[in-house]
Amino acid sequence: MGVVRTTKTVRLVTQFFDTYEHAIGVLDLVEKFKEEMNRSTIYRILDRLEDEGKVHSFLGANGLKHYAKCKDCNHKEHVDVHPHFQCTNCGMVECVAYEIKIPALPDKSVEQAQLLLTGICANCKD
Ligand SMILES: [Zn+2]
Ligand SMILES: [Zn+2]
Ligand SMILES: [Zn+2]
Repeated sequence: MGVVRTTKTVRLVTQFFDTYEHAIGVLDLVEKFKEEMNRSTIYRILDRLEDEGKVHSFLGANGLKHYAKCKDCNHKEHVDVHPHFQCTNCGMVECVAYEIKIPALPDKSVEQAQLLLTGICANCKD
């Protein structure tokens, strides 16, 4: 492993998330960057950005991993415990700014919580 350099590919993906307001499925990312990097590079970068608290991942309605940028996370923990919304018409996926309360289970330690809301987005409603 050793010293990790910020390579051009990492920068490209980071810049993408800086300007992208929605969440994106992993296959769409692979497609988007297919000129610049291969699939395994993308996966590695996403893992790394998630470790660093820059993006978070969740499963979409199709069971596919989706990524969205984080607001206040750091390399120690992700604080973005919020629902995600997926439009069943156009497929748009986004973070929902609404904090969910995770039930404290006395005899278990909860490490992850996921809530996926599906329905019709504002664009498709008209
Ligand atoms: Zn996060
Ligand atoms: Zn829609
Ligand atoms: Zn999110």
